[in-house]
Amino acid sequence: MSSYLLRGVRPLGGEPTDLLLADGRISEIGCGLSATGAHVVDADGLIALPGLVDLHTHLREPGREDAETVETGTQAAALGGFTAVHAMANTSPVADTAGVVEQVWRLGQQYGHADVRPVGAVTVGIAGEQLAELGAMADCPAGVRVFSDDGHCVSDAVLMRRALEYVKAFDGVIAQHAQEPRLTEGAQMNEGEMSAVLGLGGWPAVAEEAIIARDCLLAAHVGSRLHVCHVSTAGSVELIRWAKSKGWDVTAEVTPHHLLLTDELVASYDPIYKVNPPLRTAADVEALRAGLADGTIDAVATDHAPHPDEAKDCEWAAAAMGMLGLQTALSVVQQVMVDTGLMSWAEVADRMSTRPARIGRVDGHGRALEVGAPANVTLIDPSASWTVEPHALASKSRNTPYRTMTLPGTVYATFLRGNATVLDGKLA
Ligand SMILES: [Zn+2]
Repeated sequence: MSSYLLRGVRPLGGEPTDLLLADGRISEIGCGLSATGAHVVDADGLIALPGLVDLHTHLREPGREDAETVETGTQAAALGGFTAVHAMANTSPVADTAGVVEQVWRLGQQYGHADVRPVGAVTVGIAGEQLAELGAMADCPAGVRVFSDDGHCVSDAVLMRRALEYVKAFDGVIAQHAQEPRLTEGAQMNEGEMSAVLGLGGWPAVAEEAIIARDCLLAAHVGSRLHVCHVSTAGSVELIRWAKSKGWDVTAEVTPHHLLLTDELVASYDPIYKVNPPLRTAADVEALRAGLADGTIDAVATDHAPHPDEAKDCEWAAAAMGMLGLQTALSVVQQVMVDTGLMSWAEVADRMSTRPARIGRVDGHGRALEVGAPANVTLIDPSASWTVEPHALASKSRNTPYRTMTLPGTVYATFLRGNATVLDGKLA
């Protein structure tokens, strides 16, 4: 196994020091380190963060390998600075049995670009009718702890209550895609001024907020853990803040695109901006940024959702919902949260590594950069910038809403248990 001497890195943006990665761990920290046989990385000015952890990734395998595979998705993850990703369950077949989650987990191990933590479906076939075998998925080698019907809402209150009760036995969490189905029938974009102007079916904020309020109450009632996926409205932030003030075990994530983009982009009728939940208003974006900065929102999660060209190169109403996110997440967060002074790099590490690892119960990730910790480390150059070129991304799909945009910050290197998965900005 190789060892790496990272010279002059700034852990969490602090004072420069050297970091020695050996035997899969951070073995020494200090100025002027030397190590025979170690690869020396001149990391002057680079910031070291604990390897990023994504709670919400669609890897599409099995079933939609034309859009993404575990291999290409985890390559995109590594290039984006991630050392672990949670693979969503809405595959084909659905990840609702120990067999499927174990297959996805093994593929992640086999390729080795990032640890893959499969998310198990809450209900059989994500059909919302009958609980899946949550215990079997938790007990299998994949050790599932996060369960979600993402793409669909567990809208039946009784089923949601039972799921919350069930996962307590193995310290699991239900990650809810909060979308009241009746209130969003035929919905195409955020309900508001823009939907009225454009004549597209509106997706009201209350459809998200009503489910979040109900689920917070349910989680409190049964004393279980709830995680809210991709919070997108100002009202949702208020509800999460309220639930936390009660001491309830409720956590939430926000996507990079909901921190940057607004529903005004839909005026182009370009399906690249079609996503679930939809892009909201500038006031929502502002509330999401504030909620992330003050810790009400625990984590940034990508909701990386690859789609092949034919699913996006069509009219708005027929287009698939979703955007790529793994390779652009850190840059978007730098632009909207760090460069604006809303958050420090230490807080970025907290929202993109520490807390997501804790929510997903991911061992060995999200640890402080200290001697003895597993060497899951990301090196970024905050002073560099890059222009997003869809064809240059590692994903099999091209549906990035940031194409031709110039974003700050590049990932220089990613280390997974001391092995370089990315070096000099390229796959190692
Ligand atoms: Zn979702």
